[in-house]
Amino acid sequence: MSRPTEIQIDLSALKHNLQQAQRLSPNSHTVAVIKADAYGHGAVDIAKALQNDVAMFAVSSAQEAMDLRNEGIALPILLLEGCFSVNELKAAYLQGFEVVMHNHCQVGMLDSVDSSQPINVWLKVDTGMHRLGFNESDVANVFATLASNKKVNKIVLMTHLSIADETDDVFTQHQLERFSRSYDTVSEMTSQSIETSIANSAGIMGWPNSRSQWDRPGIMLYGLSPFASNQSNSLSIQPVMTLTSKIIALRTIQAGESVGYGNTWRASKESVIATIAVGYGDGYPRNAKSGTPVIVNGQRAALCGRVSMDMLSVDVTGLTDVTLGAEVELWGKNLSANEVAKWAQTIGYELVTRLPKRLPRRIVE
Ligand SMILES: *Cc1c(COP(=O)(O)O)cnc(C)c1O
Repeated sequence: MSRPTEIQIDLSALKHNLQQAQRLSPNSHTVAVIKADAYGHGAVDIAKALQNDVAMFAVSSAQEAMDLRNEGIALPILLLEGCFSVNELKAAYLQGFEVVMHNHCQVGMLDSVDSSQPINVWLKVDTGMHRLGFNESDVANVFATLASNKKVNKIVLMTHLSIADETDDVFTQHQLERFSRSYDTVSEMTSQSIETSIANSAGIMGWPNSRSQWDRPGIMLYGLSPFASNQSNSLSIQPVMTLTSKIIALRTIQAGESVGYGNTWRASKESVIATIAVGYGDGYPRNAKSGTPVIVNGQRAALCGRVSMDMLSVDVTGLTDVTLGAEVELWGKNLSANEVAKWAQTIGYELVTRLPKRLPRRIVE
């Protein structure tokens, strides 16, 4: 038997989640965000599963986009941070990538390419996140520069929301108002209608006014709620990734005995402790506190003591049918990565994105 720890990727859950996004925003084309190896789910597998149902993909860099092209993915791919060099911009022209332009340097790179086949540019406006994008006061100038350049085909106006995951915060409304001012400005400069792109998952799910021609769902495709408070919403999305392992040791310890490195957890009564073959070397967060939920043989149990590199311990006292080899779910179908993440002071996004290569991955259709 090999080490029983693995990731399952459920492609029917993925397709279900895409349908939910498209149902909420039926007039939008989907730009499926598959940066960072599709949030750790495997970008090539995810792209192949989605390519007939989305308009394009988005990744963070030309390298990520090339990796997809080399695996035969032919759809347009948007580079969310744009090009870092003229060579990347040349590659973008050759490969049919679409590029975000968020600063003057990227606009200037157009001088160094010569092309008969103009490129699509996503002009990014900073509406308040202050991470990437042009100031509102620069938008008209930049738009004029791009619109008069023969190397540029279509210009899509885009922005990114910083707090759409908190649906009672008015800041998103301010961002939408600022964006709409930029939209009006550039609309007056051209006879063509300007396409826009605003919504991430939280926008699609929580802010109807942010839905537009090009929505950019990421986390919701993977079945994790983007909302800070995990509020219930009418929409049902299903986790795509499940991380599982098995019990590899079981023992009964007496009251007062401790478990794990540092002896940080002590049994208050006679307790049954299960050792599971998964640890921080598998991407399970080391700072998950004692008490973090773990599903053992279909029942909720609690992590006890510190997480080791390859193992962790769970208090299984009182659970039924707990034997060596019993199935354990760390997160996935029965336990949201978001819930585990809270016990480790992080978010589900981070847990799924940082899983190491050593974990075997199994695709379920
Ligand atoms: C990552 C990203 C998205 C997707 O965000 P989710 O919260 O995962 O839906 C959309 N747009 C941009 C610019 C991004 O960087």
